Amino acid sequence: MPPVRTCCVCRNKALKSTLYRFVLENGNPVQDARQDKVGRGAYCCKNEKCLVAFVNQQKRWKRALRVEKKPLARQS
Ligand SMILES: [Zn+2]
Repeated sequence: MPPVRTCCVCRNKALKSTLYRFVLENGNPVQDARQDKVGRGAYCCKNEKCLVAFVNQQKRWKRALRVEKKPLARQS
C-alpha cells in the first residue's frame, strides 16, 4: 500500500507523494523536495490555501514537528 500522510493544515489524508514534506532545520521548516530527509516531517497539501496557512500558522507545523517549547533548565 502506498504511504498516506495527513496534511497538518486541513487534516485531509493524501498520498505522501502528492503532499509537500517539511522538516525542521535550524528551527524553521524547510521543504524536503525529495522526501528523504531524516527526522519527523510535517505534510501539507499542494494547494495555496493550505500552504499559506502552513506558513502563517506556526502552531500547525510546530505541533506536527513536535517543537513545543521546552521549559528551560532552572538555573540555581
Ligand atoms: Zn491541506
